[in-house]
Amino acid sequence: MAPGASIEQVERVINRITSDYGLRCETIVSGTTVIGVKGIASVIDDGRITELPGVDRVIRITEKYKDASRNFHKDDSIVTIGGRVNVGGGNLTFFGGPCAIESEKQSIESAMMAKETGVDVLRAFVDKSRTSPYDYRGLELQKGLEIAAAMKQATGLPTVSELIDLRHLDAFLNAGIDVIQVGARSAQYSPLLEELSRIDTPVVLKHGFGNDLNEWLCAAAYIMSGIDREGRVTGSGNRNVILCYRGIKSFESETRFGADAGMIPLVRMRSHLPLLADPSHSGGDRKLVERMTYAFVAAGAQGVEFDIHNNPAEALCDGKQAVQHEAGRIIQTARKIHSMLDGIGIETGSSIAVAAK
Ligand code: PEP
Ligand code: MN
Repeated sequence: MAPGASIEQVERVINRITSDYGLRCETIVSGTTVIGVKGIASVIDDGRITELPGVDRVIRITEKYKDASRNFHKDDSIVTIGGRVNVGGGNLTFFGGPCAIESEKQSIESAMMAKETGVDVLRAFVDKSRTSPYDYRGLELQKGLEIAAAMKQATGLPTVSELIDLRHLDAFLNAGIDVIQVGARSAQYSPLLEELSRIDTPVVLKHGFGNDLNEWLCAAAYIMSGIDREGRVTGSGNRNVILCYRGIKSFESETRFGADAGMIPLVRMRSHLPLLADPSHSGGDRKLVERMTYAFVAAGAQGVEFDIHNNPAEALCDGKQAVQHEAGRIIQTARKIHSMLDGIGIETGSSIAVAAK
């Protein structure tokens, strides 16, 4: 509270916190009054407190993204896909396949190619969010889902697919999609995040290209928390959240997005959730994909998601950034880098030197 805040003003703040948010308060008076809040303070909208008369400021001691934070869950989380593919911890998991389902032939051929290269989870993208809405956005829903099921059947691999339209969720699940992807453009679309918190199907949450780390992890924590739009805990939430970094808008126009390798160890420090990176949608050019994959894995990514297409020259969607058979070499080399760096913690350098003293 600001110096000189009245007892009535203090009471009004306490009343707002306890009755609006159902949290407990502890007040410390020593010259100025400090109101401590106990409970899941993520639900508090700071502005609804700072606007009250007599309030000086709101200071968060714990992150708003509590469920996703490593401060509340020390060990890496592991998400299991389709009962057999583990993501997170010491695993290195590859998600790959065509950017979009374009036709049955293209999808099955791309899927078989992706399987041969050694991917663990197959991209089977029915709905597409694109740079421009005029760009190719996928086949008609039922046709797309039939092909997605055929890709799964032909390869025996679990599938990941981006959900854009909330009304398609049941159809996706009924068609056997194993992982729901939230695209960069939907990363803060709260109705979608809320719906995904009610199921336990694994979710890949892309990093919105206009979002900072806090916004990204808040979206992840929201899926995990099971808190509804009125701030009430309505379910146990969906713990099976996987993060995927894909870079942000930058002033550099020659890469598609600006991907900061430093974000990889930083996010690993801040969150226990499995972290993938996407060298296709960040670099936007197949010539960059191989080296970027190695950089992400060396930086601590626990997996990579990338575009593999049977015939990039004819692709309707993102052919320029898709790789072909060379994905096999990329995966194998990345696995070597991963095992070579096994045992190196996420915090290195000066933090270890200081801790050792
Ligand atoms: C994708 O993975 O197909 C995609 C569109 O990526 P993003 O949402 O990160 O742009
Ligand atoms: Mn794409």
